[in-house]
Amino acid sequence: MLDGLNRAQREAVKHRGGPLLVLAGAGTGKTRVVTARIVDLIEEGAAADSILALTFTNKAALEMRSRVAAKLGEGVALQTTISTFHALGARLLRRFATRLGRRPDFVIYDDDDQLALVKRALTELGLGQQPSWAREVCDVIDAAKGEGVELPPHRLPPELLSGGGGQVGQVYERLLRRANAFDFGDLVLRPAEVLRDDPPLAASFRERWPHLLVDEYQDTNGAQLLALDAFAPPSSSPDLCVVGDDDQAIYGWRGARVENILRFAEVWSGARTIRLEENYRSTGHILDAANAVIAQNSIRLGKTLRTSEGAGHRLELRGYPQARDEARFVASRIRSLCREEGFSFADCAILFRNNALSLDLEDALRAERLPYVLVRGRSFYERAEVRDALSWARLLANRDDDVALRRAVSSPPRGIGATTLDALTTSGAQLGCSMLEAAGRLTRTSALKKPARLALVKLIDDIEQARAIAAAEPIQALLTVLEPLCRALGLSNTKASENAARLDNIQRLMDALHSHLEAHPGSGLTEWLEQVRLVSDADGLDTSGGAVSMTTIHAAKGLEFPVVFVVGVEEGLFPSRRGERSGEVAAEVVEEERRLFYVAATRARRRLFLTFCRERRTFGETRPAGPSRFIAEVPAAHVEPYVTGDPSRPAPLASGWATGRARTAKSTTTASSASSHDDHLYADPVYDDPAFEVSSFQPGRWVWHADLGRGLIKSVRTGARGSVSTLVVDFPGLGARTVVSTYVSPCDPAEDSPYDVDDSPSSD
Ligand code: ATP
Ligand code: MG
Repeated sequence: MLDGLNRAQREAVKHRGGPLLVLAGAGTGKTRVVTARIVDLIEEGAAADSILALTFTNKAALEMRSRVAAKLGEGVALQTTISTFHALGARLLRRFATRLGRRPDFVIYDDDDQLALVKRALTELGLGQQPSWAREVCDVIDAAKGEGVELPPHRLPPELLSGGGGQVGQVYERLLRRANAFDFGDLVLRPAEVLRDDPPLAASFRERWPHLLVDEYQDTNGAQLLALDAFAPPSSSPDLCVVGDDDQAIYGWRGARVENILRFAEVWSGARTIRLEENYRSTGHILDAANAVIAQNSIRLGKTLRTSEGAGHRLELRGYPQARDEARFVASRIRSLCREEGFSFADCAILFRNNALSLDLEDALRAERLPYVLVRGRSFYERAEVRDALSWARLLANRDDDVALRRAVSSPPRGIGATTLDALTTSGAQLGCSMLEAAGRLTRTSALKKPARLALVKLIDDIEQARAIAAAEPIQALLTVLEPLCRALGLSNTKASENAARLDNIQRLMDALHSHLEAHPGSGLTEWLEQVRLVSDADGLDTSGGAVSMTTIHAAKGLEFPVVFVVGVEEGLFPSRRGERSGEVAAEVVEEERRLFYVAATRARRRLFLTFCRERRTFGETRPAGPSRFIAEVPAAHVEPYVTGDPSRPAPLASGWATGRARTAKSTTTASSASSHDDHLYADPVYDDPAFEVSSFQPGRWVWHADLGRGLIKSVRTGARGSVSTLVVDFPGLGARTVVSTYVSPCDPAEDSPYDVDDSPSSD
């Protein structure tokens, strides 16, 4: 395992007898050290089950485990505990549940469930008429749990406090307990508190896992620190190895504290610090550009990084009038990189600051017929019909889940309306029990009208019947309760295709349950629901399938790609305006955004593209845009000459910014402050090349449309800026259709399938 490691990496792998910090820049092999160390410890005789390695995404944990498995075999890898903080927390909570007033079959509430419960808490306090407070209260709760502190009342909205809502945190916790649920923040904080308050218990865990490793340590928050404190108290000089990079701390907005890594050697006194300086990922220009930008941050330790990969290509910088032009460039450049330079689709990644930017890109990739995967992570589980189905699964697992009950009874509606639900809530609050239990009691009284009573009796009956078989036949049980929902979707023919997609999603959910049960014999709905809850945004990324990856930068942490496009590198977007006060973004926000830029740039191994637009639609509004200050911070020497000019000068103000292209095209009227220098700076050879789009769309040429297939251009209507805007295309079998040029791409007359062109190099 030590083969192929450099001297510093080897030292880190071999270090014994106390805490260790590996503090190093991107791509220096930190994650590699963590896996090598696990293998080395085991080879030296440590029991595999005495190792605990923690990271932040399921994907990273799986990757680590598979690397250990590759060296030592699946059996050994399975004995180690390689997990995310949250998954480990959930596992511990199952053991500690009763101490915390829950049963071991508790459910995990996500953001939406939490919001629903906070609203309920506000209603109980007579403050339900202010829904905007609920969001804020959720944020305060999350922040406090992330920091590992009790909810500080002064952080609540002042109007809420003066209105008598100071107890909202306590009421929320009571409702959570009554629903036999924990929220996300609890997963790390509560077990850490249990261990803190029970030293003998903590000691038993230290015996269980004497070897501890943490990747991406810069992103730990207060609760995680509390947990580490329990597992590896500084006073015991534990075998704790943490690796991270202060320059990649990008979760401050979620309560992570970069000081954790900066102060590690102080807190775990006597810790050895090892720095890695050789970057194995990126070529010279990319690395130097990233280093130059991050050097602008004031709060950092500073490090040296070198690469032995040679200078490689310079960064390519491109400006476009609008997002769809930018997207079209990305798509066509990916195609040319794959056709002409031997890259495969899977080598390419498109990274963006926020998910909204993916829409134009998806359109463009579809039009270019490029296969792509958009990292959706959690979003599958956030679809309405999937949530509906999950709420039934949750009720089967835990009949006290009030939030699930409210959702389930309306999908499809079964005669239990708001009045009845409110009666159940009130009665539950009085009796100190869940809504379903309250329903059981109410149906035996005359408190309800007959139809409501009958509807509740039927509900209880359905749930109890399904619960009776849920332990032995989870799939059958779930199918039974989902049957009315599926029938409702199947019967309604008003939105036939949408409903087909919804049914499909429910089917996929059932498939997921099926695979889970197969992979984890003896487990049931509770375990499956836990796994579903712990899917994070970064977990959907599957780079194996020969497709371009599209993802937020946050979700790309720790990954690497030969080719990276960072799109939307614009002031206001990246750095974002988060927390802007009177036109100023706080310095610490800019610094965190700059770290995010550093993370984005250092994902690239061979080629890095930065793009921006002059106009950007956000939240339905079109605003002038312009290059980010981060672009200006890249020294000219590292940027492709024809788009550089002098990027080291400060970025022009977004509002006054325009380029020659925009001006000659008369599409921008606010070009007055742009100098001719700007024109040169971002003049764009690809966009300005008329052959890029116009010549491809001429009557008599064939084009491909993602939905309509192959067609022959009949006529062309030129748009305002000299670009093609609409085409009349004759699609064989469909007839003439008017289509927007962005949605088609030129194709060969003989070509009839989007994916039968082999663009992948032989290595693929
Ligand atoms: P990040 O900061 O992005 O998380 P990292 O420091 O964890 O990066 P790794 O992902 O472990 O870096 O390694 C980056 C790349 O360099 C990987 O492709 C890895 O296989 C390779 N690498 C690491 N160490 C060596 C080495 N000694 N020799 C050759 N390649 C190496
Ligand atoms: Mg890493």
